[in-house]
This record gives sequence, structure tokens and C-alpha cells, in this order.
Amino acid sequence: MNELKPCYPVSDKAKAHTHLDAATYDAMYKQSIEQPEVFWGEQAEKFIDWYQPWDEVSKVDLKNSEINWFSGGKLNVSYNCIDRHLATKANDTAIIFEGDDPSDDLKVTYQELHDHVCRFANLLKERGVKKGDRVCIYMPMIPEVGYAMLACARIGAIHSVVFGGFSTESIKARILDADCQVVITADESVRGGKRIPLKSNVDAAIADCPNVHSVIVVTRTGGDIAWNEKVDINYSEAVENLSAVCEPEVMDAEDPLFILYTSGSTGTPKGVVHTCGGYILYAAMTHKYVFDYKEGEVYWCTADAGWITGHSYIFYGPLANGATTLVFEGVPTYPDAGRFWQVCEKHSVNVFYTAPTAIRALMSVGDELVEKADLSSLRLLGTVGEPINPEAWHWYYEVVGKSNCPIVDTWWQTETGGILITSLPGAVDMKPGAAGKPFFGVQPALFDKDGNTLEGENQGLLVMTASWPGQLRTVYGDHNRFYQTYLSQYPGNYFTGDGAKRDEDGFYWITGRVDDVLNVSGHRLGTAEIESALVLHPAVAEAAVVGYPHEIKGQGVYCYVTLMGNASESDELNTELKEFVAKELGRFAKPDYIQWAPGLPKTRSGKIMRRILRKIAENEVDSLGDTSTLADPSVVENLISQRIVHG
Ligand code: ATP
Ligand code: MG
Repeated sequence: MNELKPCYPVSDKAKAHTHLDAATYDAMYKQSIEQPEVFWGEQAEKFIDWYQPWDEVSKVDLKNSEINWFSGGKLNVSYNCIDRHLATKANDTAIIFEGDDPSDDLKVTYQELHDHVCRFANLLKERGVKKGDRVCIYMPMIPEVGYAMLACARIGAIHSVVFGGFSTESIKARILDADCQVVITADESVRGGKRIPLKSNVDAAIADCPNVHSVIVVTRTGGDIAWNEKVDINYSEAVENLSAVCEPEVMDAEDPLFILYTSGSTGTPKGVVHTCGGYILYAAMTHKYVFDYKEGEVYWCTADAGWITGHSYIFYGPLANGATTLVFEGVPTYPDAGRFWQVCEKHSVNVFYTAPTAIRALMSVGDELVEKADLSSLRLLGTVGEPINPEAWHWYYEVVGKSNCPIVDTWWQTETGGILITSLPGAVDMKPGAAGKPFFGVQPALFDKDGNTLEGENQGLLVMTASWPGQLRTVYGDHNRFYQTYLSQYPGNYFTGDGAKRDEDGFYWITGRVDDVLNVSGHRLGTAEIESALVLHPAVAEAAVVGYPHEIKGQGVYCYVTLMGNASESDELNTELKEFVAKELGRFAKPDYIQWAPGLPKTRSGKIMRRILRKIAENEVDSLGDTSTLADPSVVENLISQRIVHG
């Protein structure tokens, strides 16, 4: 690997074919801050079709938890994602489906998408679903998950997509929280060659949900399932004779579009509510600029529809822009760890967007599988979900992108609806590990804990001092929790819960959750920095770092380390790793403890749940908090039994 450089200027190749250059970005950003009403009004006209114009571009009072964008404006999101493209794109591919089994694929044109969505919408209507009703979607990653979301949007129902990997308890909690009366699911899903019993999970969940009157079942595998004539509806049979025409419901910009629960890394999941107008504008606009999307390109985001990334950047953003979006049912390692690259080759993917955890996993199996695939169609790479450690960034850039594709890092949250901080391709230099600069209209600031603004090169709490159209409007059913979680800490500002550093060029570097920023002997240190240092060591595959109370230093550094397949645990290696961090970051950052961790506790979206690791490091193993979103609970038991008990 080449020497790790701190900054990559935008290459000439990237500049030559991107929409933006640095001067355009600066000018547009300036206008978006100085004349937000003009800026957003123009963008809303450019990106979205409205039945009726809005009364006011924005009416926001963060102190009183009131956020309105384009209210009075009338639109329909499914119309914007489908119908308006039909005049020119009826026969263009809207969705490329790639099944878990590599021989299983399908292309769906915009016309076909229209017909599927209308039939689905008519089915929902037939079951009595009306504007404002909540519909739970618990599905595999197949085109029907998109049809279901858009069908809800078409009739003004509010969808709540629950990740298909969640268990009965998690589905039940989400159905009850939003009082969903209709559930859309499939018989089974297939991931990595294994079948997951979705329908039977739903059956178990709704046993305790008396208001659920209809379960619409898509046939995916044809596997055996229980059938309750009173409630269950076979999707393909039911839509067969339904009309492929369904007039879109005229929605106010501020009518809710969906509810989505956060991934639960820091606490109990929150039912984040997004509304029609601001959300779809923000999703479309960020998709266009951040991924530099061009007509005719094949765009692939590997997220699941159950996460916000799947909402904004598999379905809503790309389809609003008339793009071809790839929906992948499988996992990165099936049939082998070259699957991502094989799919890129097979469908000539131009833009590829994935998470650091996937990149690290694929990097650890070596370069050979990447090199075997023809990746010449790739033009741009993206990353989301957590800070990317520079080691993984370089592998992604050099081995996957052949040093030709800009990498866009994208910092955002379920709550933000779309990307807020990013290295806009062509306009902003790339610094491996930095999230980048604010998107248009986004006004980040760094605060100290008392709410004082920290200027210039600095480190602190990341807040947004102004609203943007894609911002969440409330927590479903609990407006006070919305206020308490995001707006109460620093009145008039949105608190992200993340810490960040700003460098001399105005780039933001996310240091992790605020709870994950350590203060070791007076040095503020992001857990992400120590983790990045650890994974630089050739024996380390993954690392998670937490603080614990330390009598002298304030906080001590406790690390969990997963070794590469070919490395083995030893006291020598333990000492070596501590010295390695001390050399990389300075003596103050030297870990106090390193515990070997065959696996790390992660959410189903692949995020490390440091709050659980913190409890283990603090030896408070009886109060781990909400563990319902853990991907594999047995990992935690192992870590508890192997924990280092300290004084
Ligand atoms: P919960 O809010 O329930 O604890 P969560 O925060 O994990 O769950 P998400 O909304 O999926 O749920 O994740 C958003 C968080 O992910 C951000 O606050 C940030 O900590 C992290 N994140 C996302 N993208 C990036 C990125 N590009 N760089 C650094 N961190 C990122
Ligand atoms: Mg969060």
C-alpha cells in the first residue's frame, strides 16, 4: 500500500466529470446561508413537482420545537418518484434487483414500477388504509419493499419499515408504538443462502397487537407458513385483478411521510418522523450532488431498506431523480467475499455506497477477490455509518477505486433525513477519515458543554444552528422526547449527540458519540482515533474503545480487540498493541487494558454498541440497558465472562 497521505486533492479525472467545482460549491453554500428562502425556494422548484406552491419556504422555531418547510405546498412523493418520469423514462430501468442467489435477478422499468405501486396502493385502500394511517413493512430486500413504501406514500399512509433481521419482540414494540393496523411482509427472506421466517415472526408479534387487522404476504420462497384467513392476504393473488391506476393523494408538505426507528446504539430506539416536502427535496438534492448522479448511471447503495440510508438513498432520493437504483437482497460474503465486486461488474455499477464495517470485513480477506472483478465502470465511491479509519479508506480508494474514484464520506443520521456533512466530489478535497464540509444550507457549529461556540480549529459537541428541510419533525407520539433529546440542551440549536473536530481548512472530523469522547488526563480523545490506531496494526481486524472512571487520569482507556484470522492472542501482543497506540497517538492515549474480543456487540446495521462495552469495562454488567437491537446477543455473554476486572 502507498504511504498514507493526509489529504487527497480532487483529481483532474474527478473534476472533469463532476457537477460541482470548488468555486460553485462556495457560491452556492454562501447563498444557501445568506438567502435561505431564495435558495431553498429555487431548489424546491428545480427538484420537485408541486400541485400547489407553498405559503412560506420555512417557518422554524427550534426553541419551541416547531419546524415547517414549504407548508401549504401540495405534492405527492410517489408521483415525484414515478409518474413524472413516465413521459421520458417509461421504459428505463428504475430498479435492478440482484437476489441472494447470483442467478436470480430482475429489472423493473419506471412503467412497471408505476403499475406495481398503483396496484399495491389499491390493495391497501381495499383493506381500509387511509391517509395518516400507519403501515408496518417487514420485508426482505426485494423490489416489493419499494413498491410497499411508495404505495403508502401514494395514498398518504405513513410507513414504518422494520429491518427484516429484527426479532419478534422488536417488531411488536414498533407495531405497538405507532399503532400500525396493517403489516406487509413476505413468507421468508433469504440471506447468505439461509432462510429467515418473516411471516412466522409477524404471526408471533401480532399475537399481542390486537389492532392489526391485515397482514399482506408477498411470496418470496414459497416456504411453508401458517395462514389465518381472517387476517392474511396473499399479495400476488390480491393485486392480480386490481387496477394499475391509482390517483396520488394530494399531500401537504408537512404531512408525515414515514416513521423510522433509530438503530439504538445509544438507547431505546426513537420513532423519527419525516414529512413529505422537505424530506423528498432534501433526499433528491443530496443524492444528485453528493453522488454526482448523472442520467443513465447505475447507482448502488448496499444498505437495507430498514435503515434511513435505504429510505433516502436506495429508494426516495434516486427514484425522485429518475435514477437506476440497485436493490441487493444478499450479504457481502455470499457465495464468497467477492460478491460486492461481482455485482458491480455484472451490472456495470457506476456509483457504489457502503459502510466502513463492510469495507473492513472485505479488506481483511485480501485484495484477490477485488482484483478478479472488472470494476472499470466504477466512478464514485461513498461511505456512511461511522468514521472510516484511514487504513480502510486507503484500501477502498486504491484497491477498489484504483485511485480513480473520489470517495464521498457522508455524515448524517436517521434524524437528519439526508446527508449533512460530506466531501462533495469535485468540490471538496478528500481527507481520509474526515466527514468533510457542510452541505448547502447546513450550519454546523462546535459547542463546549456549556453551549459556548468554539471558533476555528477546535473540538467539541456537534450542533446545527439552523434547520434544513430534511430535519425530523418529532418523535412519533412523544413530542416532548423530541424536544428533550435534540433541542433542550442548547436552546435554538439541534444537538446531534456526536462530537467533532474542525481542522484548519474547515473540515469536520467526527470523533464519535459525545459519550464516546474520552478525557484522559485532560486530553480530549475520540474513541474513533484510538480504534483507527489499533487497526493500523497488522494483527488487528477490528477494535472498539471505551472509557472507564480512573482515579488519577479521570478516564482510563479500555480496548476490545478482534484479531485477524492469522494472529493469536498472547501477552506479548497485548503489550505490543499498547505501545503501538502510544507511539501512534502519544503516551497519554496508551490503553490501560486490552481485552481480546472474538466478536463485538453490534446493532443490526453494523454499529458497535459502545454503551454496552462501557458497562462491561465499568464492571456494571447487571445494567446493560436495551439490548433488543443487538445482532448477536451471545457476543456480549462472552465478553462479560472474559472481562478484565480492575480496581
Ligand atoms: P440511536 O440514535 O438510537 O443511538 P444511531 O445513532 O446508531 O442510533 P443512526 O441514525 O443510524 O442511529 O446513526 C447515526 C449516527 O451514525 C451518527 O450520529 C454518527 O454517530 C454515525 N455516523 C453516520 N455516518 C457517519 C460518518 N460518515 N462518519 C462518522 N459517523 C457517522
Ligand atoms: Mg443517533
